[in-house]
Amino acid sequence: MTLDRPEPQFIAGHPVLDLVNTVAWRTDDARRTERVTGAREWARWAAGAGIDAPPGGADGLPALRNALGEILDALADGVRPLPSAPWQELNRAIVGARQRARLPAELPLRWRPAGLADALALSAEELLSGPDAERIGRCQGPGCGWFYLDRTRAGNRRWCSSGDCGNRARARRHYARNAQSSPR
Ligand SMILES: [Zn+2]
Repeated sequence: MTLDRPEPQFIAGHPVLDLVNTVAWRTDDARRTERVTGAREWARWAAGAGIDAPPGGADGLPALRNALGEILDALADGVRPLPSAPWQELNRAIVGARQRARLPAELPLRWRPAGLADALALSAEELLSGPDAERIGRCQGPGCGWFYLDRTRAGNRRWCSSGDCGNRARARRHYARNAQSSPR
């Protein structure tokens, strides 16, 4: 099967953020594109994202992705309180995932999710309740809207990828400099 759209990328450093990033050009309504649709593509995406879950159960992924995207946008924009509808959606997903999960008699305790969407819901709970929540950043590229974990010591990562939005920004700066310095 050939895809007539770009492959999903895994630049975020966390599967939950990679899930949100399965929509390209998130914040540009004209270019917004879902890069993963249907059970087979989700299964392939999950393998690429390194998600440890039984296959199947991808049905809830788009709704979970959209809810997480709205919540992370609100966090990035400093909007409080967080928007209620996506928060309820995330809440339902986490509670449902725990109800369906198994908890094997092993240490350390670790929930075994029943499927893909459940695995991502539990992973989102872990991300948002841990120290990495402070490191979630959003690409500053116009229209991009991709999220990542900022692992830089100074916490100053600005781009989803230096070769992508970072490159476009460098090209814009270069063009602006040349336009300024050339004789009129
Ligand atoms: Zn970007």
